[in-house]
Amino acid sequence: MQTETLFAEIVLPLPLPGTFTYRIPVAFSEKVFVGQRVIVQFGRKKIYSGLVYEIHTRVPQFETKYILEFLDQERVVNTLQFSFWKWISDYYMSELGEVMNIALPVAMKLASETKVSIHPDFIPDTETLSDREFLITEALMIQPSLTLTEVSKILSAQNIMPLIKGMIEKQYIVIEEELKERQKPKLENYIRLNEQYKEEGSLKDLFDSLQSRAFKQLEVLMAYISISKFYSAETKEVKKIELQESSKASSSIVASMIKKGIFEVYSKEISRIKSQSKEKNVEDIVFSDAQNTAFEQIEQGLLERNAVLLHGVTGSGKTEIYIRLIQSYIDQNKQVLYLLPEIALSSQIINRLQVYFGEMIGVYHSRFNPQERAEIWNKMLECERKSKPFIILGPRSALFLPYSNLGLVIIDEEHDLSYKQSDLSPRYNARDAAIYLAHLHKAKVLLGSATPSLESYYNARHAKYGFVELKERYGGIQLPEILIADIKKESRRKTMHSHYSSFLLSHIKEALKNNEQVILFQNRRGFSTRLECSNCNWIPTCRSCDVSLIYHKYQNRLKCHYCGYSIKPVDRCPVCGSQEVHMKGFGTEKIEEELSVMLPEARIKRMDLDTTRGKFALGKLISDFESRKIDVLVGTQMVTKGLDFDNVRIVGILNADNMLNFPDFRSYERAFQMMSQVSGRAGRKGKRGKVIIQTFTPWHQAIRDVMENNYISMYQSQILERRNFYYPPFFRLIEIKLKDKDNERLVHAANDLAKSLRELLPGRILGPEYPMIPKIRDYYIKSILIKMERNIKLGEVKGEIRRKIFQFKSTMKYRSVIITLDVDPQ
Ligand code: ADP
Ligand code: ZN
Ligand code: ZN
Repeated sequence: MQTETLFAEIVLPLPLPGTFTYRIPVAFSEKVFVGQRVIVQFGRKKIYSGLVYEIHTRVPQFETKYILEFLDQERVVNTLQFSFWKWISDYYMSELGEVMNIALPVAMKLASETKVSIHPDFIPDTETLSDREFLITEALMIQPSLTLTEVSKILSAQNIMPLIKGMIEKQYIVIEEELKERQKPKLENYIRLNEQYKEEGSLKDLFDSLQSRAFKQLEVLMAYISISKFYSAETKEVKKIELQESSKASSSIVASMIKKGIFEVYSKEISRIKSQSKEKNVEDIVFSDAQNTAFEQIEQGLLERNAVLLHGVTGSGKTEIYIRLIQSYIDQNKQVLYLLPEIALSSQIINRLQVYFGEMIGVYHSRFNPQERAEIWNKMLECERKSKPFIILGPRSALFLPYSNLGLVIIDEEHDLSYKQSDLSPRYNARDAAIYLAHLHKAKVLLGSATPSLESYYNARHAKYGFVELKERYGGIQLPEILIADIKKESRRKTMHSHYSSFLLSHIKEALKNNEQVILFQNRRGFSTRLECSNCNWIPTCRSCDVSLIYHKYQNRLKCHYCGYSIKPVDRCPVCGSQEVHMKGFGTEKIEEELSVMLPEARIKRMDLDTTRGKFALGKLISDFESRKIDVLVGTQMVTKGLDFDNVRIVGILNADNMLNFPDFRSYERAFQMMSQVSGRAGRKGKRGKVIIQTFTPWHQAIRDVMENNYISMYQSQILERRNFYYPPFFRLIEIKLKDKDNERLVHAANDLAKSLRELLPGRILGPEYPMIPKIRDYYIKSILIKMERNIKLGEVKGEIRRKIFQFKSTMKYRSVIITLDVDPQ
């Protein structure tokens, strides 16, 4: 028997420091365990679901509330996950509750606005109900559910929890289903022939009767016989929808046949996780000599170190190497995580892996709905129980799945920016977090890229990671030839056609003549079209953000890319009254439009944020381009990412200069990566491809490096600058952003905070400064940058910084100032 009172530390999905202590009811002392979800009251009114993080007997100094409910019979989060969450929270200076918030699928999290409804078995009986209970049940008879806030209002009472708890215990009410997390499996209807027709004779009678009276129904029956392979040994189950489609019958015909007892309906649970069966064997992959060598080096490297960087040029066959390596970990019954920058852009890779691993793969899609996410989570727990290996393919959020026995993490396109979560705390980098996750599981990491990040390359060169190179494309295909279109010269000679040089145009035309495809790259939507008054230079700007509005032709509106504010374009300048207001600048939309005027025959499509919003839009664009239904694909960064098309002959980079002129210490590296990656889409099969870079500055070193495919040259020049100007990988950066609606208060606050940080870390504080966009959604922004040597005791310093900020936040006059922290900002 347990005599001592047990307490639990609970993680709540709130941006507050630490865990919260609750008392465990004696009746539950045997049933409580770490990783279980519980319901607790937080503050005076709110109810949350939290996770049991620790169970202990340390009696707290303050009064503690009881845990109200225990939700799980089995843990949903394991201790390795908790360790991982803790690391993320410490390293990225965020709260454990914030990590929980992004780590648990929404369907497994219980919202704070808890709803209650009548218990399905409860028959209200005025005799036994207390007055307050009666009021609640009465209200719930009218309205199917009430939030607890609403309940308080009805009762005009504050502390309703004991009452609610009592009613739950007496089974008068339940915390609503959505809260109780019964994940509804997705069901699909199937049709089968009624048992009585299984006999030869009766089926024949049925045929006869339908033939004379119900011809449509007869067709349906025939279709059923055919789909189900009724007369064969391997009969198949028939989906209702399938039957309707193939017999072209309406659902009412099928329904009437069900009513008549010819068919029966039954439903079956279907998995939302799309799976494809295995078609090929990994053993059948025949490596080139270069791949063989690389593979051996990787295996050797992973014996000696925990991580290896594979630097392989575009098209060198890295994916095949990953596939083999995955197999070797699966063979040891280990779990594998394959990280991708953006799952939506990875349909090709997913297909390539599914061919080899079939149902063993779970794809964790960022566009999945909460149920689908929860389903993968549960599937993993099931695999764990059966100790079956599996492979997860997913973007950064896949790091938080319940791994228990991870053997290998592959980080594909490790340089990619999308690995960093910048917009929300915790602002983690999945590449770096993955390395820690692997460390927790004693697993190995393979980072791969044609254009590694400077940080990873530095680690490889300094023996922190193993290092393997693949310098040639698979199948002896040459890397594309890279040519320059000098826009300055062509402008002078008047041979530019709006944004297209004659040089690029002639190449596009020639490719189209040969039935080859073209990719055109215009980076960033930010350089899209805007309106400008030619007389006074007035430009329409957002009312809440310090940016100009971007013209979207399709909707005929000027839009703010930061807050969504939009207005109709004007034809008269509101400042000077001039009618000379014109569109300036160019974006993907403009480029697409101009080209279709110049090449009316060509089938041109655009790939950017605007054209790929729908769940399937992007997949369709990719497959249409793959099957050559599109000749020219015009796009933003999206087109630079890992796509593998056979027939792309020409890649055009429309304006290399705006990448280079970006005021950021990484702009050179980024420009090199983007240009090399998009170049890598050219000539992947068959004929050698060509890349044409339009630029005003053909002599720029970054462009030279791209032309010569000289990563080392880029690396050497950049690493020198990083060292000289105290940037990563030599220094660590922490960015502190302050926001407030009142600019004056913000300026004071930022100066004060910077001053107090300077006392802590003299010589290491830069700013405060306004960032490039100094105002977003009515909030003014200032940023402070901390630069620290790598050998500094990071944990301690972060602790100090947090204390300073905490102190600062408790200053009355700065209470409205919002502060965000970004460790290793991108
Ligand atoms: P990377 O990821 O390095 O850019 P990929 O893995 O996409 O390169 O390989 C480029 C092309 O070569 C792909 O179409 C791939 O299927 C093919 N390929 C690579 N290795 C092999 C192999 N061993 N056998 C057959 N085809 C291969
Ligand atoms: Zn004007
Ligand atoms: Zn705005």
